[in-house]
Amino acid sequence: MTPLKYSAEDLGFDPSEVSINAMEVVEKLQQKGYEGYLVGGCVRDMILGLHPKDFDVTTNARPEQVKSLFGRSRIIGRRFKIVHVTFGRSRRTEREIIEVATYRAKAYPDLVTNKKGRKKATVSDSGRLLDDNVYGTLDQDVERRDFTVNALYYDPVNDVVLDYYGGVEHLKRKELHIIGDTATRFSEDPVRMLRAVRFKAKLNLTTSKTMDREIRDCASHLGDVPAARLFDEVIKLFHHGVALDTWKVLFATPLGKLLFPLSIRAISGEGGHRFEELIVRALKNTDSRINNDLPVMAGYLYAVLLWKPFVIDVEKKVEQGMRRNEAMWAASEAVFKQQNKTISIPWRVRSPATEIWDLQPRLEKRIPRSIEKLLENRRFRAAYDFLELRSLVGEVDSEIVEWWTEIQKADVAQQKKMVDVLRGQTGASNSRSRSRNRNRNRRRNSSKNTSGSSKISQS
Ligand code: ATP
Ligand code: MG
Repeated sequence: MTPLKYSAEDLGFDPSEVSINAMEVVEKLQQKGYEGYLVGGCVRDMILGLHPKDFDVTTNARPEQVKSLFGRSRIIGRRFKIVHVTFGRSRRTEREIIEVATYRAKAYPDLVTNKKGRKKATVSDSGRLLDDNVYGTLDQDVERRDFTVNALYYDPVNDVVLDYYGGVEHLKRKELHIIGDTATRFSEDPVRMLRAVRFKAKLNLTTSKTMDREIRDCASHLGDVPAARLFDEVIKLFHHGVALDTWKVLFATPLGKLLFPLSIRAISGEGGHRFEELIVRALKNTDSRINNDLPVMAGYLYAVLLWKPFVIDVEKKVEQGMRRNEAMWAASEAVFKQQNKTISIPWRVRSPATEIWDLQPRLEKRIPRSIEKLLENRRFRAAYDFLELRSLVGEVDSEIVEWWTEIQKADVAQQKKMVDVLRGQTGASNSRSRSRNRNRNRRRNSSKNTSGSSKISQS
């Protein structure tokens, strides 16, 4: 294959965009007689005039050879080894990790043998590649990449961009093209469909009719992808600063429904438009946090996406006679169990999501003796944000949110005063509800054994 060649000037990008550390890695590799290129997202983004978020290097040197060249480097990955070279030592210089990968080839069945020399099954029945852990040449490395715009190689030392598949032209025309046959490439790795969604939304690219059709036809292959890998891919979809656009693109394909069956059912059910609005507002908020370099929590994302399915299940269980606290616990178990069938959500993400849910009724109720503890709760801030979000779509009285906003700003004396006022209000309403309960108990005792299950109100 003969690539088209361009300089940075030809493509209108500034070569000084390349981080000093990435430059150092490529220089060192080349000085030692190896090939070294920047590849993938960083090259694509520089051509588009965006600041690359990280730099990936590819080389013909083997991981052990790369490691021997750099002091602070380590080999990571069990299936496919890559080398992380770390820079930045003092507090003043930021840490940067340059990922160095050895050229890889597509592992087609005849290519791979096990230790005993026997051919290994490298493709599943649906055509999914089970093993792509084979070193290769630069030509082979280009061929296994997903999209033409991701298959651009930049040698920053000699200032040459290598373009094997017309990626530069496609970038200019704002088009996303897959390398090779669309159906085959999606079947080999169905995650590429999610990557297509991501790049379409993030880079505002158009896709061909063929690609759109193949995404529809191959969508069900997503079920073959290990649920743990899908968790990582979904985070990439929503924590990239364009979550809302990604959501729209995703749900224009069947992929959205396959990934989030519970959320979609809840959106199309009763009151679903409010839930959709909640998601849209949350995603907008996530985008603005990311674009302002503020931290985001995967747990919050799932608390939002699964909120309505959770609420529906809680109500169902309460109706069936379960105590509300128990129902909340059981519904959270059930909802995550169901969602985990497609996306395996790790405990570190599920646990904060559940805590955010758990705090909702407590924040709404504002029991005076619990206020201090709630304010100290490690999930208070996330739960408060969630409460505010719910109030914006009309699920919670805005006065309650304002009260929580105020108490966070207040000093200790003012906080005590606010709680005392609350105590006065709830004291009055508690005595009213105590007398209501007394009457209810009297009625219940008189009709004892006549009802099957007792429905216990929110406690
Ligand atoms: P981003 O800026 O979002 O990181 P990226 O293109 O750099 O985008 P990465 O996930 O970092 O995405 O992958 C780096 C490169 O590796 C891609 O540009 C592409 O060439 C290749 N690649 C990644 N995932 C796949 C895949 N599933 N199939 C084929 N090639 C892939
Ligand atoms: Mg990248």
